[in-house]
Amino acid sequence: MNLNIKIEQLNKVGKVTTSRLKRLGINNARDLLFYFPFRYEDYRTIKNIGDLQEGEMITVRGKIELINSKRSFKKKKIIIEALVSDESGSIRVVWFGQPYIKKTLKIGDTVFLSGKVTEDMIGTQLVSPTYEKDIGKQTSHTARLVPMYPLTANLTQKQIRFLVTQIIDLVDSIEDWIPEEILENQDLILLSQALRGIHFPVDENDLKQSTDRLKFDELFLLQLKAELSRREKTLQKSPVFKFKEPEIKDFVKNLPFNLTKTQKISAWDILQDLEKNHPMNRLLSGDVGCGKTVVAGVAMYNVILNGYQSAIMAPTEILATQHYQTLLNLFGNKLNVGLLTSSQFVIPNSSQSEESLRGQISEGSLLAGRDDKIIIPKTTQRKELFDKLSNGEIDIVVGTHALLSEKVKFKKLGLVIVDEQHRFGVQQRKQIKEKGKGINFLSMTATPIPRSLALMVYGDLDVSIINELPPGRKPVLTRLVEPINRNKAYEFIRKQVNNNKQVFVVCPLIEEQQEIVIPTELARVEESLSSLTKGSLTLRRVRDDSTSDKKSVMNEHKKLSEKIFPNLKVGYLHGKLKSAEKEKTMNDFKNKKIDILVSTSVIEVGVDIPDATVMMIEGAERFGLAQLHQFRGRVGRSSYQSYCFLFIDNESPRALERLKFFEKNNDGFKLADKDLEMRGPGEVYGTTQSGMMNLRLAKLTDRDIIKKARASARGVVNNLSKYPKLINKIKEWESGVHLE
Ligand code: ADP
Ligand code: MG
Repeated sequence: MNLNIKIEQLNKVGKVTTSRLKRLGINNARDLLFYFPFRYEDYRTIKNIGDLQEGEMITVRGKIELINSKRSFKKKKIIIEALVSDESGSIRVVWFGQPYIKKTLKIGDTVFLSGKVTEDMIGTQLVSPTYEKDIGKQTSHTARLVPMYPLTANLTQKQIRFLVTQIIDLVDSIEDWIPEEILENQDLILLSQALRGIHFPVDENDLKQSTDRLKFDELFLLQLKAELSRREKTLQKSPVFKFKEPEIKDFVKNLPFNLTKTQKISAWDILQDLEKNHPMNRLLSGDVGCGKTVVAGVAMYNVILNGYQSAIMAPTEILATQHYQTLLNLFGNKLNVGLLTSSQFVIPNSSQSEESLRGQISEGSLLAGRDDKIIIPKTTQRKELFDKLSNGEIDIVVGTHALLSEKVKFKKLGLVIVDEQHRFGVQQRKQIKEKGKGINFLSMTATPIPRSLALMVYGDLDVSIINELPPGRKPVLTRLVEPINRNKAYEFIRKQVNNNKQVFVVCPLIEEQQEIVIPTELARVEESLSSLTKGSLTLRRVRDDSTSDKKSVMNEHKKLSEKIFPNLKVGYLHGKLKSAEKEKTMNDFKNKKIDILVSTSVIEVGVDIPDATVMMIEGAERFGLAQLHQFRGRVGRSSYQSYCFLFIDNESPRALERLKFFEKNNDGFKLADKDLEMRGPGEVYGTTQSGMMNLRLAKLTDRDIIKKARASARGVVNNLSKYPKLINKIKEWESGVHLE
């Protein structure tokens, strides 16, 4: 017998069972060994029958004195009744609907029975306990930590255990592919031992060591793969961009504010990357409003000083326009900045006549505005923009997806920045990188992803984190509002609007079901995993289907505009609107044609509405903390005191705990951690844990093991030739054969 033995060759596996096992992906002995239990029943305590107490989960060992079958009165189901005794007493045992037991168990057999003790009028009894004859061997189903496997219908736990028992000794023929020194340094047990321990653990300690070892294997491979792809990138060449110290220092000195410490560190990380002769691949992560744009500006400026061009891509027209404005403010007198979206563009130094859309652009940034023209597109004018990009006259181009157009060609593109990178698909991020050779790539995200998670998910990226807000920002005051105080909140809002301020109202849903889009952090996991495990990784889109009691944007809009605030301008925004309509509403809000904007979660990430001081959230318990934090980040973007009011529809203790935590904490990273702790990465990042991690055992919260795996992967990646077994493992894995 060897690892490749087909499942149908095992004892008691017929056609039907074979096809059922195959549906679980179990084709041979190896598959079965790597089909892990998801929990264990603790049936280790063997008690005297005479001492049993109602409610206990126990095992007894006794002799069958009587065994009979009968039919139940009503349902005509077979009931097996037995009397089992040991020296201390006897107990009644019943099994429902398992007629074959009558044939398996005979009077006089000694059996182990594991289950829960119940009591009825006649006395204590065991109902449908797991049974196993005592034949003097180690038990598999009773009197131990009993493995429970994830099963589909028609396969039983007993069947799987029976099969695993047949092949468990094959673990000794599995090659341990982890180098000995790593096993030693990381204090890991042998693979054979771990496989034995995960199926049939001797005790908790054995189980923990086994699980840790197998989790390590999964994470180590993942990290190794990331290290390899990282190393591969270092083999790509890119031009060296010297740190132009005097100019950059001068630029930073002339900003209307001092950079925060982590802004400086991040900028420095990037400048150092740019000096290397291989492309940068970095993620800049930082809470909403922490000032990523100016860091991006430093990077772009340095690249331009080295004679190359930079491009920055944003997911929406509003954001692109906002960046354009910021960059004009920062560089307008030094550099040529262009804008390209599908409906508008700006050509610097153009002689053409323009219709100004100036009024649509906010002056919200801390920097003073500057007069520039935005041109309504005409194809001939677009051509001028394209020409100036390809002849190098334009230094920086800001844009949306429009930048991906084939017509957009650069003379010498050195740096690409993608803002809110999760809003773009993998393909789009790849496409923009292909606009030049050996392009440096910086992605930015406001999803405060904890570092451990970032390491896991973005294994092949370098990560810089800005974890502080600029000084002087007043933290947003957050309050969970009790229903009886709702009118006070409305009163407060009215006052704010009278003081020229603006208000967001976020509702969980529009009239019908809304799909929650998975942040593409996960798409990356998918990307990296699908290359190692063929198929089976399913990112599940989560649908929220409890619509009945949820506030809809339209209802809320009606209520607010007609009843509560008939004298104020109330607008609305939801995902079903066309993007042009959304843009228009957002612009109207920016330009204060709207006082109160009722919206689903679609309100733009990153849009600056400096006068918005109130964020009111309905059904707050339905949102994750990270998402609530994103909403809260839409206000508090100026020196005004801002407020976040939370209303809940459903008061569960857990929801209250989360929201109370949210009230007190303004740090996105802390909130993300709390979310992870309370809801698990599955829910937080919008997919089920199992779906997300085709990793069978490891979880994103296994931080220590992730760390160990990463350190170990780094330790071997440069000497891989010394580890032929590892090389084989990687090959096996790249060919998509197996994940073990
Ligand atoms: P985000 O990281 O969310 O993209 P932005 O780059 O849009 O944040 O910055 C938000 C605002 O903070 C901008 O108006 C910007 O000018 C301002 N800002 C950035 N850095 C600082 C700083 N160090 N001190 C004060 N204000 C800053
Ligand atoms: Mg931003």
